[in-house]
This record gives sequence, C-alpha cells and structure tokens, in this order.
Amino acid sequence: MESKEKKIIILGAGLVGSLLSIYLARRGYTVHIYERRPDMRTETISAGRSINLALSDRGWRGLKGAGIEKEIREVAIPMHGRMMHGVNGQITRQPYGEKDQAIYATSRGILNCVMMTEAEKNGVVIHFNKKCTGVDLENTTASFGDEQIKGRAIFGSDGAFSAARLQIQLSTDRFEYSQHYLNHGYKELLIPAGENNSFLMEKNALHIWPRGGYMLIALPNLDGSFTCTLFFPFEGDDSFASIKTRKECTDFFNRVFPDVVPLMPTLEEDFFSNPTGSLVTVKCFPWAYKDHVCLVGDAAHAIVPFYGQGMNCGFEDCTIFDQLLEKHGDDWNKVFSEFQSIRKPDADAIAELAYLNFIEMRDKVGSQKFLLQKKIEARMHDKHPSKWLPLYSQVTFSDIPYSSALSNGKRQEEIMKEIMNINDIENKWDSEEVEKMILNHIS
Ligand code: FAD
Repeated sequence: MESKEKKIIILGAGLVGSLLSIYLARRGYTVHIYERRPDMRTETISAGRSINLALSDRGWRGLKGAGIEKEIREVAIPMHGRMMHGVNGQITRQPYGEKDQAIYATSRGILNCVMMTEAEKNGVVIHFNKKCTGVDLENTTASFGDEQIKGRAIFGSDGAFSAARLQIQLSTDRFEYSQHYLNHGYKELLIPAGENNSFLMEKNALHIWPRGGYMLIALPNLDGSFTCTLFFPFEGDDSFASIKTRKECTDFFNRVFPDVVPLMPTLEEDFFSNPTGSLVTVKCFPWAYKDHVCLVGDAAHAIVPFYGQGMNCGFEDCTIFDQLLEKHGDDWNKVFSEFQSIRKPDADAIAELAYLNFIEMRDKVGSQKFLLQKKIEARMHDKHPSKWLPLYSQVTFSDIPYSSALSNGKRQEEIMKEIMNINDIENKWDSEEVEKMILNHIS
C-alpha cells in the first residue's frame, strides 16, 4: 500500500518534471508523473519545441545531484565558443570561457527519454496520455477528465502554459501574473550531415549569423547534422509575413545568409512546412499554494531562449528543492515557502538577462567594438580571476545566483562603457593603463 504522506503527484514528464521525480524518489517518496503526451520512447511525436538545447553548469549540477550526469554526458556535444558568420562569409571565433569550458548541445528528445528511463529505474511511475484538466488545491487532487488523483503534494512542471498555474491564478487573491511575447518568432531548419555522418561546419561551436533585426543559429547533433533556428520578426520588411513563396525564401537566404544556402538542400520545404514558434516570458507569484501545490520550471518562470538557460534554470530549481528537503525534511510548508522566496528573484533576473542577450546576439556579437570589449574582459579575467568574472561565465559556468550575476553584470557594463570610450582603445586595450583603470573602478 502506498503511504498517503509519501505520495507525490508531478504534472508533466518534461525535462524538469522528470529530473524532480528522481530527486523525490531518491528521498523515499512514491512519485507518480502524469504526462499529457504519449511515451516518446515508443511513439514518434513532433518535438513541438526546439530540437536541441544548450546544457551548461547549472544543468549539469542538477543532473549530477540526481546521479544521471554520466548518462547525459554520453549524448552531449561540447561547444567551446561562438562562431560568427558575416554576410561576406567572414568567420570570427569567440571562446565562451576558459579552455576547458564549454556548453553542450543535447537533443531535447534524447535527453527527455534518458531522464524518463532513469526516473523509472528509481521507482517513479509515469502515466502517459493523461492530460491534467484541473487541480483542487484545497484537497491536493489533480483531475484528468473524469479521473481524480489525490496526493500529499502536487508539483506543476507542466510548462509555460501550465494547467496547475492557471488553477493557482484562479484561486489565489492578488496572484501576480504577466506574459510577454516577443515580436520575433522562431523556425527550425536543417543542415544535414555530410558523407559518413561528417559535420559540414565546425562541430564544437555554436554558430551564429547575427544580422541586426534577426539572426540564425546552429547547434550540432550527434548524427553529423546541425539544427538551425531562425529568430525572425513576425511582421515587417524582412519577416515571416514577408516571405510567401519559395523564391522569396531562397532570395532572402542568398542575400543575408549566403554561406548557409548550399548546406541546406531542404531549405524551402523546411521553411514552409516547419511550424513558426512564438517566444514568451511568463512571470507569476506565488508559486505555491499552502503546502499542497508548487510550480517549478517553465510553469513558474518561462523565459526567452537567448541565454540558453530555461532548462538549466529549471534543473537548478531541482537542486535547490533537494537542498531544502535536506534542510526541512517533510515540512512542505517551509520547503515551498523558502523555495519560492529564494528562486523568484533569480527567475526574474534570468528572464531579464535572457532578453538582454537577445539584443546582444542579434545586434552586437558581429561588431568589432563588442569583440574588443569581450577581449578586454577576458584579459582581465585571466590576470585577475578573483576580481573579474565575465557576466556570461557567471551565468553559464558558475552557481552564483542569477540575481547577483545580473547586478554584477550591470556594474561591469558601466565600467566597460567608460573603458570603450577611451581614445585609441583599439591600440591600447592590453596596456597597463587600461588594466589599472578597470582595477580602480572595481576597488
Ligand atoms: P516543458 O519542457 O515544456 O515540459 C512540460 C511537460 O508538461 C511536457 O512534457 C508537456 O507535454 C507536459 N504537459 C503540459 N501540459 C500538461 C497537462 N495539462 N497535463 C499533463 N502534462 C502536461 N533552455 C536551455 O536551458 N538551453 C537552451 O539552449 C534552450 N533553448 C531553447 C530554444 C527554444 C526555441 C525554446 C522555445 C526554449 C529553449 N530552452 C532552452 C528552454 C527550455 O526548452 C525550457 O526551459 C524547458 O523545456 C522547461 O522544461 P519544463 O519541464 O519546465 O517544461
């Protein structure tokens, strides 16, 4: 017989729900996940959202804590830096961090399948084709059509359009909620593998074609192909709305991404048959209802993908959750309330950082001034690692709370603004004078 005190319901067997289930099962809870989709390990379902994702330190920490890091390392490709492609075909490389640091391209589908299998190995039961249609917050009961399931606690890890969140919203006085859509959407395109599964571009890099108002990126897949994502305005001169025919599509790509066209034999088909996704930021509060229900992952904080942190942030939620269970045991009231008060400022901060990185990737990464600034910052980090950690590294290669990274980053940006205004900075960027000026600002 299942202990009522130990029965946990998780809504959604996505990336965060699967990971959280492992943490809870390892602490002795009886965990049941209810997932609206069929089992993707046995049935082909459309990916819906991005096919591959960049996994970085916060995500790895979450996986390691649940004992499944090794399984995921086997299916991840390190990307040591950005490779920027200019319109004239010129390529510029920019390392993400130190020599041994990388972010990792992983297939969403493979990752999710491995994590569900690991969850089951830990005793988690996953019920597929079970769409949550309502949550009775007071009675800690989730509904799936006519069926009602009661647990000791319910976790809503059912993504950006969470049914659990909607229920909290409807039942909570003064519930804060906002959703913001970008004017840009995204579409996935494919660069297939070359002969014998060879990669047709540098394998260990995240490729970017920054073009001001829009951009294309590409991440490597295990089979030698690259999944490309076009982030593009919905409306306007160059936009999804303005490209209506196959010829318009090819003409546009030849004009702005000429080096990619020969690598994309199915460009026109992919452009018109793949869906156009929208990009939403969701903020809400509170995340918990008493000690009965709690939101995690995108259900609590969906962000735009430009820092590659949505999943990483959700995995960090799981790490923090586990630490709170260690601290407070079965006192769910304390666990939920401390969880939301720790994580809310960090979720808001990564939402802001993700948006700012959209501007950076789209408008700045191609500019010489921006590249020089990054070079100066990298030099400062090399010479004074304890005094200067670039913002990207704070977010991607550390566990500094996102809110601290955001405020550190704003301070650094103010300093760098002054430095970049120095006369002839192009020729004296690596001088002692510049270094001293930066050090003076820090101290
Ligand atoms: P989801 O992955 O959305 O999973 C939710 C699950 O709940 C799904 O399985 C769904 O079927 C199920 N579900 C939904 N409703 C119900 C219901 N009513 N009942 C039962 N089940 C339900 N993040 C990164 O860290 N790095 C990246 O590089 C990155 N790139 C991205 C690129 C794009 C284009 C996009 C859109 C996002 C990207 N992200 C990235 C963000 C990342 O995809 C999300 O943060 C992550 O998927 C959140 O995981 P989740 O488990 O909270 O939600």
